[in-house]
Amino acid sequence: MKLADLYARSGLTLSVEFFPPKTEKGEENLFSEIEIIKRLNPGFCSVTYGAGGSTREKTVGLVETIHNVCGLEVMCHLTVVGQSKVEARGVLNLLKEKGIENVLALGGDPPQGMADWRPHPDGFHHAIDLVREAVALGCFSVGVAGFPECHPRATSRESDLIFLKEKVDAGAAVIITQLFFDNDDYFRFVDDLCKLHVTVPIVPGVLPILSAPQVRRFTTLCCSRIPEKLEKELAKVETDDNAAVEMGIEYASRQCEELIKFGVAGMHFYSLNKSYSVQAICKNLGL
Ligand code: FAD
Repeated sequence: MKLADLYARSGLTLSVEFFPPKTEKGEENLFSEIEIIKRLNPGFCSVTYGAGGSTREKTVGLVETIHNVCGLEVMCHLTVVGQSKVEARGVLNLLKEKGIENVLALGGDPPQGMADWRPHPDGFHHAIDLVREAVALGCFSVGVAGFPECHPRATSRESDLIFLKEKVDAGAAVIITQLFFDNDDYFRFVDDLCKLHVTVPIVPGVLPILSAPQVRRFTTLCCSRIPEKLEKELAKVETDDNAAVEMGIEYASRQCEELIKFGVAGMHFYSLNKSYSVQAICKNLGL
């Protein structure tokens, strides 16, 4: 089922993001986790595209298995960086052949060793180029990324919002946000996009925290803020990952509760290939 139809249904559409594991053991573990996630009845699962297109084959392979073997709806992430236009079009055509209906069109993180983001010499420059390519094929529903705290490379918050609106105007059916820990940032983002007459679902990306050092690394990488109330909680679990997981479940549950009250169309969980926290949060929310 396409993203547009999934979010048009009544009720919350849950989605869960995975990354392609590096090892066979990791893959085995992932499929066990997916079986648990399946019981939560997610609208779809998504698979990341490694920085600089580094997991192209693995991503497409995993997307296909989740769709055809696990029997779940999927969305394949696809990025601009690190590949030529021909290669990007090749992936879209492959997904089309395999009957995959949903794509998340992204600029992409730079590959390891690339200090600054640079487009491939024969590649697209921005996510909007991929949106246009995917939409033109006529068989995809397309999602795009949104940044409640502004994208780190944006020249201004205003321009970032305008470029996002352009992606929606080019045919994107949904915006999925970067992780954030202060719902006020999300509420302001939605408000600003409403003022620009953006009407597609703006789905919050939720990260269940698994460890204090890890979340500090992530927030530094994606320039997200750790609000004071979370900083205090993190300080208590700095060296205890089990306690961090439980704190993360509690924090994300309160965050989601407020987002549901606000009326979000769905929630996108950054699962880090683990089902435990996602399952516990859904249980807390009565989902
Ligand atoms: P773009 O829309 O190209 O925007 C990038 C920057 O360029 C922004 O600062 C924007 O303001 C500016 N810009 C946009 N359009 C224009 C224009 N026409 N002219 C001038 N400037 C412009 N990364 C991965 O590598 N793999 C993944 O699987 C992945 N999954 C993600 C999933 C989600 C839900 C999110 C939120 C992010 C994900 N990322 C992933 C990270 C993302 O690819 C990076 O943050 C990337 O730097 C920005 O992507 P974008 O799609 O917003 O790019």
